[in-house]
Parts: sequence; structure tokens; C-alpha cells
Amino acid sequence: MNNKILVVEDEPQIANFIKRGLRHEGYNVIVAADGETGLDMAFGELPDVIILDIMLPGIDGLTVCRQIREGELQTPVLMLTAKDAVPDRVAGLEAGADDYLVKPFAFEELLARVRALGRRRAPIESDAPLHFADLTLDPTTRMAKRGDRNIELTAKEYDLLELFMRHPNQVLTRDQIYDRIWGYDFGGESNIIEVYVRYLRSKLEENNESRLLHTVRGVGYALREN
Ligand code: CA
Repeated sequence: MNNKILVVEDEPQIANFIKRGLRHEGYNVIVAADGETGLDMAFGELPDVIILDIMLPGIDGLTVCRQIREGELQTPVLMLTAKDAVPDRVAGLEAGADDYLVKPFAFEELLARVRALGRRRAPIESDAPLHFADLTLDPTTRMAKRGDRNIELTAKEYDLLELFMRHPNQVLTRDQIYDRIWGYDFGGESNIIEVYVRYLRSKLEENNESRLLHTVRGVGYALREN
């Protein structure tokens, strides 16, 4: 998986400063210049870390952060605040941000925070079992269960199911799935996603259980109950 960072910042100079620096460090950086685009990209691009300015045109950073959390997206958020005002910091953390950085900042400071947030995410993701309907996925054993029935998964089947279970009730596009499971180089013409979805369904529905992995025609797939 590559490290994708979403930067939501309306000031082009700061956005470019962050983008250039992080790209130089090997990150894949995408930029949104307003809150609405930032929200779309947070849910659409599934970044690993979000750098979010508080002062944005339209929807401000605090609202963006709240909506990200309300949408059940657990992506670590680093807030950028213009001043070291305590109310701003508290509001940011209350809105669901994981950390904050006061402008102006040195790039090294930003990089250290981004690295820490990227690291912090991994253990959280790898430990707790994931639940959806009667389906359980245990990241420590990489086993799935439907009710009491154990389901053995291959490595790719597991990766695919985990991606859906971390984004329940959300339509994942084919591009998003390629990007997260196979990386960029795979190419969009292959039917490998269809093949793996078929494998997964046959295992998840072996005892005629209800369908959880649904096709959203022309778009992609979604884990949902109907
Ligand atoms: Ca700003």
C-alpha cells in the first residue's frame, strides 16, 4: 500500500510547500483547496493521513473533521491552526483531529507529525476484530467468521474483505480498490476485482447466507446488508 496524504489547504503557497516536501519524502500527495473538495477526497480517495487547515473557504476545517468522523472514517487528521490559541486546539481535538500544528511551522515538524500519525494508525488497524452484520474479521488471525462458521481466506481475499469492512456501507470504486489492494500499476482493464469478489461471495455465502458484498452497477462494490 502506498502512503497517500490528503492536504486540505486554500493557501497555494502553503499547500505547495507541504506537497513538494512530502513528495520528496516519497509520499503520494493530493491537495484540496476548499472544505467541500476536501471532504469528497477524504471519502473518495481514502488517504492514509489528512492534513487539514482550520481556516478554509466555505466549510471550515473543524466542520470537515466532524463530518469525516461522522462518516465513520478513522483516517488520522493533523489540524493546521493559524495561531496557538487554546480554543482552536481544543476545538480541533474535539472535532476528532488526532494532532495539530501551529502555523508557521518548519517542514521537519510537519514530517515528524505525519510519520507519527501514519505509524499510530497501523496498530489500531491491525488489532481489534471488525464486525459487520453477522460477519467478523480478525486481523490478528486473518480469519473471517459468518456467525459461528469459520471462513479461511487467501491473502488477497483477506485484504479485499478488510478494505470493505473498514469502509462499511460505502461504495468503493474499482479504481479505489485497485489502488488500495494492488497498487497503481495494475491497470483498469483487468477483471481481477470481479474474480476476487466472486471468490469472496462464494465463501461468505456458502451456507446460503444473505449477500453482504453488493455490486453497485457502473461504479464498484459496497459492503451492506441490502
Ligand atoms: Ca487557510
